Amino acid sequence: MRRYLAAALAALWPKVIIDAVYWRKIDHWERKQGELVKLKVGLAWLLMALFLATGLVACGDATSPAGANGPAPVSSSPNGASNSSVKINVLATTTQLGDFARNIGGDRVQVTQILRPGDDPHDYDPTADDSKNAAAAKLIVKNGVGVDDWLDKIITNSGTRAPLVDASEGIKLRAGHGDEEKLGDPHIWHSTGNAKIMVANIARGLIQVDPAGQDYYQAQLTAYQKQLDDLKTEITRIFAPVPVEKRKLVTNHDAFGYFTDEFQITVIGSVVPSFSDAAQPTPQEINQLIKNIKDNNVKVIFTENTINPKIAEQVAGAAGVKIYSNLYGDSLGAPGSDGDTYFKMELTNAKNMAAGFQQQ
Ligand SMILES: [Zn+2]
Repeated sequence: MRRYLAAALAALWPKVIIDAVYWRKIDHWERKQGELVKLKVGLAWLLMALFLATGLVACGDATSPAGANGPAPVSSSPNGASNSSVKINVLATTTQLGDFARNIGGDRVQVTQILRPGDDPHDYDPTADDSKNAAAAKLIVKNGVGVDDWLDKIITNSGTRAPLVDASEGIKLRAGHGDEEKLGDPHIWHSTGNAKIMVANIARGLIQVDPAGQDYYQAQLTAYQKQLDDLKTEITRIFAPVPVEKRKLVTNHDAFGYFTDEFQITVIGSVVPSFSDAAQPTPQEINQLIKNIKDNNVKVIFTENTINPKIAEQVAGAAGVKIYSNLYGDSLGAPGSDGDTYFKMELTNAKNMAAGFQQQ
């Protein structure tokens, strides 16, 4: 009871001050109706004081520590969107996967991605922060096909038991180059058809660790896959004015096999003779590439955002062709660039390729 009185008094004291100020104005405004207004204001303050006092007493009576300080449960509203600040921590290896996970996970997830825009996935040294992020993750997403095998070390160092999504699961792989690419060509994301499978794999992983969000993730997936279909239609439209015989591609490294399969483009060669930019071409390989460029009437070499263009520029000089930079090969572009999302990356690549092919 003492607590009730103290709370009521605490709630009422501002009324004394505000009434004093308010009454001076009422006198000034409407002397005739002053008494009526005074009655209404008084009743309103009494009700508010009772409401506040009840609330304070109720708070004071809550004795369960879990009620006040325990972790907030992950809960969902009827449409499935999270109404809690607790989100599912997802760790993704590459920039493309980070974008996919954010789009499928939406409001329910917090995505950390290991690679930054412009990082080369073929050549990455894990850090201590990566292990911390893996330890905090509820779900880990990798590209697979060998390109992000450095994740194994991160998983071991962190001791994480979080489920792992291999986004390449179910994708028909192209052949890889030599021993380094025994599993196949890892650049699977450059096909919109593959991307649909990758996001479906991510959605399945999210539903596994957050079953309450099943309907939400399914809706996000359906919408994103529809956008991927639209993307394919748009890229087809971009290439439509370019005759198939002009669609001949020479790039810095061989990252676009899945893209070229999807849009009737022929790969003539690449400057770096493997999927990894760590490899250097031999003089014989450079000479062979220059010959292929000339024999096929190629006029443009495309460079990529993650790879030093120096050797490509030397080849272009020797072959007498132009350099077109930059395609987004193995990484999204920096925020604000024309390749800072998966959709923008693929659209920009298509536009740049189409413009370059028209020179041929
Ligand atoms: Zn690559």
